[in-house]
Amino acid sequence: MKEKIAADFREEIKHAFEPGAKVMSADRELRYCLELQRNRIAKRKLKYTEEMVHKGAFPEGLKNVRSWRDYHYETSWTVDYIDHNTTIQRDGLKTYRHGERQAIYETVVDVRDGEDVSGDDYCCPNCGAVSTIAELQEGCSHCGTSFKMSELYPKVANYFFVYDMSGRAEHMWLTVLKYGVYSLPVNFLMCVYVLYTQYGMTTLASYLLNPLMLMKLIMVMGVMLPIFGYFAWIFDAFRIAAKTTPVFFEVANARKKFALKMSMFCPEFTFENFVARMVSLFKIVAFSDNREELPTYSGRDLGTVFDNVVDISFLGSMSCKSVKERDGIVYVTGDVYVKTARDLGDRIKVKDEIYRIKAGRRKEAMFNTDFSISKNQCHSCGASFDALKTKKCPFCGSECQTENTDWVIYDIRNVEFELLIKRLLVAFIILFLIIIALLDTQGLM
Ligand SMILES: [Zn+2]
Ligand SMILES: [Zn+2]
Repeated sequence: MKEKIAADFREEIKHAFEPGAKVMSADRELRYCLELQRNRIAKRKLKYTEEMVHKGAFPEGLKNVRSWRDYHYETSWTVDYIDHNTTIQRDGLKTYRHGERQAIYETVVDVRDGEDVSGDDYCCPNCGAVSTIAELQEGCSHCGTSFKMSELYPKVANYFFVYDMSGRAEHMWLTVLKYGVYSLPVNFLMCVYVLYTQYGMTTLASYLLNPLMLMKLIMVMGVMLPIFGYFAWIFDAFRIAAKTTPVFFEVANARKKFALKMSMFCPEFTFENFVARMVSLFKIVAFSDNREELPTYSGRDLGTVFDNVVDISFLGSMSCKSVKERDGIVYVTGDVYVKTARDLGDRIKVKDEIYRIKAGRRKEAMFNTDFSISKNQCHSCGASFDALKTKKCPFCGSECQTENTDWVIYDIRNVEFELLIKRLLVAFIILFLIIIALLDTQGLM
C-alpha cells in the first residue's frame, strides 16, 4: 500500500501543474500547496513542464530507506533515481531549462493502527448521493459539499530532490567523458604550456602550424581527456559537497534536539512529520494570494516578497533552533533550506534561500486516529466550504474560525543575510586566531 502510494505520487507529480490536476496520493496540506502553486503558474501565464524519467540501477527505486515510528504514525522515505528536466516558458520570457540527474525522496506517512475506510460508502448529508469515502476527499462531486474528515493514510506528506552523484554505475564512464569534454580548454592550455616550457616556442609553433603535428597534439589531448574528466568530476563532487556541508552540520542535530525538547510537551511526534508539515504550510503561505484568510497562518503581513515565486523546492533539510511553551502553545522555530524560482518578467531567477519559520500548536490538542467525517459548514449561512483553505466563508464573508488543533505558522523571515554575517564572523575569528598563533611561533609576540 505504501509502495503503491509512493509510485502513484511519482506519476501524479509529473502532471501536478496541468489544469485540473489532482494529486490524490498527497496528504491534504501538500495537495493544497500544489493547487495554489498551479494557480500561481496559471495566473502568471507560464507553461511549466516537468519531465521525470526513471533511471539507474534499481528498477523500482528504494523503499523504506529510513523510517521513523512514533506513537501514532509510521513515517518513511522512499527514493527513486530520475533524470529531471524542468522547462518554464512564456512569450517574452527567456525560456528556463534545467536538467539534472536526481534522487527523488518521498516522505510517506501511515497510521500505525487504523482501519482502511477509503472504500466504504457514505451518503452525502446534503444531496443524498452515495460515494465512497475516498471520492469525498475533495468534496461531493454532485453538490460540492465539503467535508472535514480524517486523512486517509498512507499519504505522501513531503518530497524533495537531491543531486545524484552516485547510484548509477553504468553511467560513470559517460560522466567522466562528459566532464572531460567540459575541461577541454584546460586540457588544451596544459598541452600548450608543457610544449612551451619543455621545448620552447619553436616546437609549440611547429605543433600548432603543422597539420600532422596538430593531429598528434589532438591525440595526446584525447588520451588525457578521461583523466582530466575524472579529476573535474571529483572536483565538482567536492564543490557540491562543500556547498552542502555547513547545512549538513547544522541540521544533523536537529532531529535529536527536536525529539528531546518536544518530549517535554508532546512526546508523540517525529521530526520528519513536523518537517513535512512545515514545508507544506510554508509553501501554502508563499503561494497564497489571500494570506489573511488562511487558517494556518497568523503572522504579520508579508507584503509582496513571495508574489513572483513560481516554485519552492525543499532542499531536504531543516534545523531546529528552539522549542518553547507559552500560554498553552508549543512554539517551534527552525530554518528551512529551499531553492526558489522567481518570475522576473523577462527571465526566471533561481536561488537558494533560507527561511526561519516559527510555528505553534496547542499543547492539549488531541491526536485522534479514529476515522471521522462531518460536513464543513458556515456557522452563519450554512454554506459548505473547505475550512483548511480559508477561515472566511466565501459565500457570506463571516469568520468561521474553528479552534485550531494543528500547527499554525506565526512568523516567516529570510535569514540568509543574518547567517552570512554569522559565518563571516566565525571565519574572521578563526583567521585572527591563526594570525596570533603564527605571530607567536615567529616569536613576535
Ligand atoms: Zn452531495
Ligand atoms: Zn457563510
